[in-house]
Amino acid sequence: MSQPRTRIVILGGGPGGYEAALVAAQLGAQVTVVDSDGLGGACVLTDCVPSKTLIATSGTMSVLDGSADLGIRLAVEKALAGSQPASAAGQAGAGRPGRPRLATVDAPRLYARVKALARAQSADVALRLAAEGVEVISGRGHLAGPHTVVAGEREIGADAVLIATGALPRVLPGAEPDGERILNWRQLYDLAELPPELIVVGSGVTGAEFASAYQALGSQVTLVSSRQRVLPQEDADAAAVVEDVFRRRGMTVLGRSRAAGVKRTGDRVVVTLEDGRTVHGSHCLLTVGMVPATRGLGLEEAGVALDGHGFVQVDRVSRTSARGVYAAGDCTGVMMLASVAAMQGRIAMWHTLGEAVQPIRLGHVAATIFTDPEIATVGVTAEGVEAGEPDAMVVKLPLATNARAKMQGFRDGFVKLFARRGTGIVLGGVVVAPRASELILGVSLAVEQSLTVDQMAHTFAVYPSLSGSLTEAARRLMRPSDIN
Ligand SMILES: Cc1cc2nc3c(=O)[nH]c(=O)nc-3n(C[C@H](O)[C@H](O)[C@H](O)COP(=O)(O)OP(=O)(O)OC[C@H]3O[C@@H](n4cnc5c(N)ncnc54)[C@H](O)[C@@H]3O)c2cc1C
Repeated sequence: MSQPRTRIVILGGGPGGYEAALVAAQLGAQVTVVDSDGLGGACVLTDCVPSKTLIATSGTMSVLDGSADLGIRLAVEKALAGSQPASAAGQAGAGRPGRPRLATVDAPRLYARVKALARAQSADVALRLAAEGVEVISGRGHLAGPHTVVAGEREIGADAVLIATGALPRVLPGAEPDGERILNWRQLYDLAELPPELIVVGSGVTGAEFASAYQALGSQVTLVSSRQRVLPQEDADAAAVVEDVFRRRGMTVLGRSRAAGVKRTGDRVVVTLEDGRTVHGSHCLLTVGMVPATRGLGLEEAGVALDGHGFVQVDRVSRTSARGVYAAGDCTGVMMLASVAAMQGRIAMWHTLGEAVQPIRLGHVAATIFTDPEIATVGVTAEGVEAGEPDAMVVKLPLATNARAKMQGFRDGFVKLFARRGTGIVLGGVVVAPRASELILGVSLAVEQSLTVDQMAHTFAVYPSLSGSLTEAARRLMRPSDIN
């Protein structure tokens, strides 16, 4: 007699939810996903995918801006020089200061592309789930106990439930978005124009990425940072490179400037800082963090413990305090990354369906900040190493001397490698470069597989290549006995 199929119900269809659904279906469970706003979640529809699509365009604008240095003269350049002022289409101050822009952005077309791509990605997720036999219910769901999910009229029994409801943009009191001039990042793509003068409040990852992108697209950007420097949580050397590039490209970066409120005055906005100064612009983008989407889900009634900020508390195999209830992704606040959400979701399913499972290893998560240049990191941090935990050697190589970097016309960036003193095992790294998101894989592999700097140094890198700087960094950390 065959066993009854395990019933899994998942609340939320973002990467935490849909990746879990795929694993559970693969393992033969009967899977239902309840999702209120579209499969793929905020990741696909409003956050990660749209922002990186926008950045694909801003990156191309940067390439165009630097093309003259590479000996390129655009066919239209001559005609443009004769017929248009340098500040055409609200471009004053954007790109490389003092230079005319070679191209301008068609904002409606760009935003239409962003939204179409997000919808297409969401449709792909839907097709994938359908192909695996996952039932999808559109609508809001909540728990009515640890083993029951209610979605509209339906009450669905579950052997295990996964909460993957994500998070929402935090609203700063006194700076409520109006969707027209005062915006959160989810409202950007409904604008009819490129903001001519954009004030970005918040200099964490999201703020830095949008500030970088809009500056390249042609907006005059002011970045308001409450801390001394941008990207305060990141590697200090990397953040310094990015901040320097921002300023050189004409961005105004206001450090130690906490926003107290944002007001709209007709077609303008004014940001008031806590010290009384004001900053004026055409639009204000608020990137001041996320709050978990965990209210009204019946979690506490079902025995699921939340922390003081409302995040679901989970262990390293995604279990909550209620037996049979798991949680994954941004609603847990563990590390707000799509890759982490997906891994937490998969681990939850492997665990509940009796598969061998390895608890999540957050120390091995590779992450990228998609500024220009990008910052990619994995493993231990410089801060930790400086504090002696762990006892590690470090080397930092600027990319300015790398032949490939010279050919490609950039000089801002470096590779940094950490290796355990004594054994030489690679513990982490930082790459600041165009496409650092792709380069970090080599370090990530080394960290995951406990490779030594000797092994990394003996690995062939292509000449000329940026990855050659990674193997060179490893070589610099080799112990004398390895070299002799
Ligand atoms: C601007 C921005 C850019 C980012 N870029 C990156 C990046 O480049 N790389 C990266 O790894 N991460 C990135 N992230 C983070 C990434 O988007 C999140 O970590 C990821 O979306 C988390 O996935 P999730 O499944 O937890 O939640 P979500 O993707 O938010 O999905 C949750 C889903 O649950 C639904 N839901 C909520 N409540 C209910 C309910 N009661 N019933 C049914 N459904 C419900 C929501 O509507 C949503 O569809 C970015 C974030 C932001 C803000």
